[in-house]
Order: sequence, then structure tokens, then C-alpha cells
Amino acid sequence: MWKINDRLDFKPTEEIIALQEIALQKQINYLYANSAYYKKLLDTNNIDPISIKSIADLTQIPTTSKVDMGKNNTSFQCVPKTEIIEYVTTSGTLGSPIVIALTKNDLKRLAYNEKRSLKIAGITKEDTIQITTTLDKMFMAGMAYYTGAVSLGASVIRSGIGNPAPQWAFIKQFKPTVTIAVPSFLYKLVKYALANKINPNKSSILKAICIGEPIRNNDFTPNKLYQKLSDKWPINLYSTYASTEMMTAFTECDAHSGGHLLPELVIIEILDKDGKPVTNGELGEVTITPLGVEGTPVLRYRTGDLARTHTKKCTCGRNTLRLGPIEARKNQMIKLKGTTIFPQSIEEILVSFDQIEHYVIEISSSTINTDTIQIYLSDRLNSELVKTLQKQFVDSLRVTPKIIRVSNLELIHMLHPEGTRKPKKIIDIRKGTVHE
Ligand SMILES: [Zn+2]
Repeated sequence: MWKINDRLDFKPTEEIIALQEIALQKQINYLYANSAYYKKLLDTNNIDPISIKSIADLTQIPTTSKVDMGKNNTSFQCVPKTEIIEYVTTSGTLGSPIVIALTKNDLKRLAYNEKRSLKIAGITKEDTIQITTTLDKMFMAGMAYYTGAVSLGASVIRSGIGNPAPQWAFIKQFKPTVTIAVPSFLYKLVKYALANKINPNKSSILKAICIGEPIRNNDFTPNKLYQKLSDKWPINLYSTYASTEMMTAFTECDAHSGGHLLPELVIIEILDKDGKPVTNGELGEVTITPLGVEGTPVLRYRTGDLARTHTKKCTCGRNTLRLGPIEARKNQMIKLKGTTIFPQSIEEILVSFDQIEHYVIEISSSTINTDTIQIYLSDRLNSELVKTLQKQFVDSLRVTPKIIRVSNLELIHMLHPEGTRKPKKIIDIRKGTVHE
């Protein structure tokens, strides 16, 4: 069923959209017949599934949020238990994680998605891929990279998450050409190498697929993290963006100007704060409708991620829409006296300081319309650096966050609270905030 279709990307836009709309009609009918949640949603809103024929028609259907999914998790499941092959989880907003059940076909779709995605980043069966992400703990991402790489026919090193020393030992022994990693971990890796007489530029690694954190600004120029990393280790960095609910990735090609849409797998809409579609190039919430998902499909799912789309033909020749870097998380907007900022702007400043290895940003509310920002840093940092940092916050963002110095151990405990799979760099303890 999932036969690779790279040529689709080079077809005229109208042809790509026509194909998406056929798949959309099929998906809506599938949801109406099998999803208790979406049958009720369409019936309550008097929407006949047959009437949804185009991407524009989708706007008639209310969007789905993470809260909706958390509240009604089992009613999203479209298949009986006997059809479920794998369960994965994603962090919920209501305490317990959201469960996503996958069928055999969903696993094939996931591998197909990642194979397509790796090929867009120029990776072939000749490559050896080191995967430094979690492959267990009910995590979907690691499994997607693994099955995608296997399906591509590349060699895989499942080095998993772990300290730099064994990662370098794997690199030395198996000579991977590609690494799949969180960019801040790559930075940790290169810092370790330089401190331990390993020349990273003589290693076999030529490119990295960067997950979880943006590496570019909204005009596609390298951001601070990218610059810091490439100053020490100038490998070719490709950004990829995906989420468990959408089971689809947007990955950069050699033009490095946004992640390419895989049109046969997902429909993307960018919505403003009132849920109306924004124009191409404008910032809004990434809202997705995956196609061909059987187990736990979603429709018009609001990711909470803010980004822009680009529809001009890419210099690589593909006609598919491109998604720019995630510029912010919608619910993390910080309200300050007369202005608003996103924690990402604070992070940009923090990562520009080489000496700052770990940080935690805590947002709380002091009065109704003003939030408070506290930044936890290591007590090993010298006071002069902290002063320079404070000045930088005032100069660039006109904010004066409170800086709290704690021991490295305390900081690491804050970053990795029990039960989390990813470091928690932003803690939001504002009342009434939906934590996503
Ligand atoms: Zn391209």
C-alpha cells in the first residue's frame, strides 16, 4: 500500500492538491464510520461527511485540541483491540499521557513517512545512520527513524540516548555518515570531543537530522544554536519537525528553506487565534489532518506550535509546501507590562553564552495581566557573566528576569523530573494555563 512516491513532489501544485483532496474525502468517510469522537462532532454540527470535498471545506469542521484528545482519548480509537499492533504515548494536558494506538498499516505508514523524509534530506541506502533518540519508553519518534532507515536500506546504529563518550566510541567504530539528534545534544557531543582530544571534523559524520529544537530563524538563516554548533563542527544540518499525533514529518532538503510537506500523508492549515486560516507566510498555529491513519486519527488537530508556510517553488524543484521553523508555542506567550514575548527569545540569548550548559525558565503569574520570569542557572557560573546576561536581556528584550543560582545537580533534577522523556527547559506554573 505504501509504495514510495517521490515524483509526486515535483508535480504541478494543482495535481498535488487534487490528490490530497481525494485522500481527504476518504479520510473523512473513514472517521465518520469508525471514530466515535468525530461521528459525534460532525453530527452535532450538522455536517454531512460527503459535503467535505476540498481543503477549503475543512474550515466548516471545528478543530481538535490536545485537551479534547485527553478528555475523550478512547473515543478517538477507530479499530478494535485485535487490530492494534503498538501503543505509543504523548504528553497530555490533563495529567495522564495521551495514548495513540497504531495498526499494522500505521506502522508501515510511519516507516514510509520517514523513508520519504530521509530521502528529501539526501540520505540514501549508502549511508550509515546513528540514531541518538529514545527507542523505547512508548516513544514514537525513535521508532519512526529506525523503521524509516531500515525501509530505506541504510545501515543503522541504534546508539540511543546516552553520554557523549559511548556515542564517540560508536562513531569511531561504525563510521556513521548521518546522525539523528537533538541539536543541543550535538553541541554537547562536540564540546566533549574538543575537551577529550577527539577531532570532530575528522569523524565520519557529514550531516545531522536535527529534531526537537529549531536551528533556523524565520528567514531560514542559522539561529544562535546552529551558529554555535557549526562554529565548532561545520556539518550539514537538516531540520525536521513532526509530532506523535500527526505521525508525519516535515524535513528540509538541500535548499534548507523549510521542511517539505509529504502531501499524500498530511494536510496542513495555519490558523490565527480565532481559528481562521492566515495567508501564506504569516505566523499562525500549525493545524494538521493526517491522511491514511487508521488507529487513532485526528482531524484539524491544533498542535500549539506557531510557524509559517511557504508555497513558492523550492530551488530543489519540489512544488510541495514548506513549513518554516517553529517560532513559538502558542500557550507559552508571556505577558509583561505592555508587551508580550515568547520563552524562545529568552532561550536564544541563553544559548548564545557558551558557558551556560543548563538552564530552566520558569513562568509564573504575579498579577492578572503580568507574568514573572525566573531563570535557574548553575551556581558555577561567574557573577560577571550573569551581569552580562542580565544586560543582554534588558538590551534585546527589555525584560529583567530574576536569575536564581542553584547547584548543577539541582538544575539537572529540575530538567528531568520523574517520568519525563525530554528535558523540561520551560516550566509554566501560571494559573489557568493549559500545559502542553
Ligand atoms: Zn526543497
